Amino acid sequence: MLRTAILTRLPVCTMQLLIGPSFVGMALLHWLSANNWEKITAWVYGMGLCALFLVSTVFHIITWKKSHMRSVEHCFHMCDRVVIYFFIAASYTPWLNLRELGPLTAHMRWFIWLMAVAGTIYVFNYHEKYKVVELAFYLTMGFFPALVVTSMNNTDGLYELACGGLIYCLGVVFFKSDGVIPFAHAIWHVFVVLAAAVHYYAIWKYLYRSPRAETIRDA
Ligand SMILES: [Zn+2]
Repeated sequence: MLRTAILTRLPVCTMQLLIGPSFVGMALLHWLSANNWEKITAWVYGMGLCALFLVSTVFHIITWKKSHMRSVEHCFHMCDRVVIYFFIAASYTPWLNLRELGPLTAHMRWFIWLMAVAGTIYVFNYHEKYKVVELAFYLTMGFFPALVVTSMNNTDGLYELACGGLIYCLGVVFFKSDGVIPFAHAIWHVFVVLAAAVHYYAIWKYLYRSPRAETIRDA
């Protein structure tokens, strides 16, 4: 009984704690913005962060407290999965928007959102049916834009970007180990928080804090 209570409450706690800091982080980047393009980018990235922690918290609270609300839980479970696609797109947005890209690679700016929409359509049609396919979708969306980002002339911050990506990948091991490893889902959340923090640090340091001469804000 106690174990079940811990298992259901821990994931809530880890995500809940990050809702406030996400809003503060979004406001900070917005405040540091030098023009509208940077402001929009800060807003999109910040909303991705806030949405991830907010939706995850609501879903886990429903799972924990309202076990009789199966249909609502199912709906929020889908939202919990969908928000990951948009969170990945939002996490790449500052790099794709504020760094100079080639004429071909610049298409990744909108293509990544198309991938998020495709992932959403998949979730609404095949939620929990083909878990391997779902994982493949997440990994594809996580790695494919990295090809563009790593091809940029300015490589500042790519080390942190890769570190965050590695933390997410290690976390996936726990994400896929529910019922096998004790507290696996809560541990997955900790990895998500760590990776998101590393990525936020890199975005703050290399894209918003001065010097920002390489950004395309004046383009
Ligand atoms: Zn979760």
